[in-house]
Amino acid sequence: MVKNKKTLTCIVCPQGCPIDVWEDEGEIKVSGNTCKRGYEYALEEFKAPKRILTTTIRVKNGILPVIPVRSDIPIPKEKLFDSMKIINKTIAEAPIKMGDILINDILNLDINIISSRDLEKI
Ligand code: SF4
Repeated sequence: MVKNKKTLTCIVCPQGCPIDVWEDEGEIKVSGNTCKRGYEYALEEFKAPKRILTTTIRVKNGILPVIPVRSDIPIPKEKLFDSMKIINKTIAEAPIKMGDILINDILNLDINIISSRDLEKI
């Protein structure tokens, strides 16, 4: 029996193929992908969706009050909210270099929050 059928837009390359993914008798089925990368994307998105988290962190003594940051690898979708709670409480100290780790191993996920730009001290 077909369960949980979803249509995704593949984001692996600019072609953006629509891909159907569903469960049938305990097996995950994929259709509409035009390459193997799309197949793997749909499978992963169906089983355990993840996202690169992009946001900002407040900065002390910087030429700007906040700095754009991102996770260094995708975060499981169900952990985004709890990650944001930690990020919103964090204050980084300038100067900061692009790629500096501003939060190490967030939620013990082995994922770091890194700065997306340099930010000088006042
Ligand atoms: S299925 Fe393949 S060709 Fe289509 S968007 Fe995904 S990566 Fe690109």
